[in-house]
Amino acid sequence: MARLFNFSAGPAMLPEEVLKQAADEMLDWHGSGQGVMEMSHRGKDFMSIAALAEADLRELMGIPANYKVLFLQGGATLQFEMIPMNLMAGKAADYVHTGEWAKKAIKEAKRFGTVNTIASAEDKKFTYAPRDWKINPDAAYVHYTANETIGGVEFHWTPETGNVPLVCDMSSNILSKPIDVSKYGLIYAGAQKNIGPAGLTIVIIRDDLIGKGVPTPQTMLDYKIHAEAESMYNTPPTYGIYVAGLVFQWLKRNGGLAAIEKLNIEKSNLLYDYLDSTDFYANPVAKQDRSRMNVPFTLKDAALDDAFIKGAKEAGMVQLKGHRSVGGMRASIYNAMPIDGVKHLVAFMKDFAKKNG
Ligand SMILES: *Cc1c(COP(=O)(O)O)cnc(C)c1O
Repeated sequence: MARLFNFSAGPAMLPEEVLKQAADEMLDWHGSGQGVMEMSHRGKDFMSIAALAEADLRELMGIPANYKVLFLQGGATLQFEMIPMNLMAGKAADYVHTGEWAKKAIKEAKRFGTVNTIASAEDKKFTYAPRDWKINPDAAYVHYTANETIGGVEFHWTPETGNVPLVCDMSSNILSKPIDVSKYGLIYAGAQKNIGPAGLTIVIIRDDLIGKGVPTPQTMLDYKIHAEAESMYNTPPTYGIYVAGLVFQWLKRNGGLAAIEKLNIEKSNLLYDYLDSTDFYANPVAKQDRSRMNVPFTLKDAALDDAFIKGAKEAGMVQLKGHRSVGGMRASIYNAMPIDGVKHLVAFMKDFAKKNG
């Protein structure tokens, strides 16, 4: 069986080595006589798997000791609510509006208190990353979306927010490059893009931001409960944590985040350089803010979209249809997308343009 190149925005491809290792260990993890899915989350085997996953994530991202790593559930979407619930504490919060995901985060936060939109890219249909942030010095926190998965806009720098804690939705570019975690108050990400299986959500939170919710959040929505219980207040998504751990090991074996960043630059440049060399395809995003993870593009005649999707599928490439809100195409090229997948896509695009130009 030949594996497809899957350009889905998520759930997305996982490294083949990781899937093979998970398959090998499916029935018997390290001679334990059972698979990881069947293990007690409080037994010593699973506890060692979770501890190693956390240690490897800490090493990869350089997470300082005064930050907790939480393995939660509910996706990034539940964090849209948990963040204001736990951090607002009667104050207003600042949000940066960069597109579809920021919009959802803002909508939920408004249910808990005052939200100030301190920067927005709406004036240019969310095709750039806004630089000029008017931060309120007494805001509870500033929230931004590091990579807009639908619009294909990415912040290639970490914003400076002074004493106001920086909160970041890193769902679609976490682990794609080195970052300085100490500049953030809280980082969160659903796993299904760059980490592992859907169902696991990772929250990295600075100690002093834990336990600030006023009124106290409901038990399962309280960071303090999860932090004190080391993410084992209830049954965590055990298999997701295990596969995420295998992905962290894969990243470490391959040179860590500096090496994957180099590869992500190379992969995304292959695609953008081609897009810029032809007028058959177009990408609307300001060059300096283009995402290395999600590359939206349109064909010069939308009537050709269906033929493009069909031809790509026949050539072994799936999930290239753009998000329903923007149309066109989108190639998501997360860490696990091999460079050969991107080369294959560019070759197909050239051929398609020649035949239909
Ligand atoms: C996918 C995505 C989400 C939503 O994630 P869920 O895990 O489905 O809740 C939120 N923000 C960004 C930037 C995303 O890419």
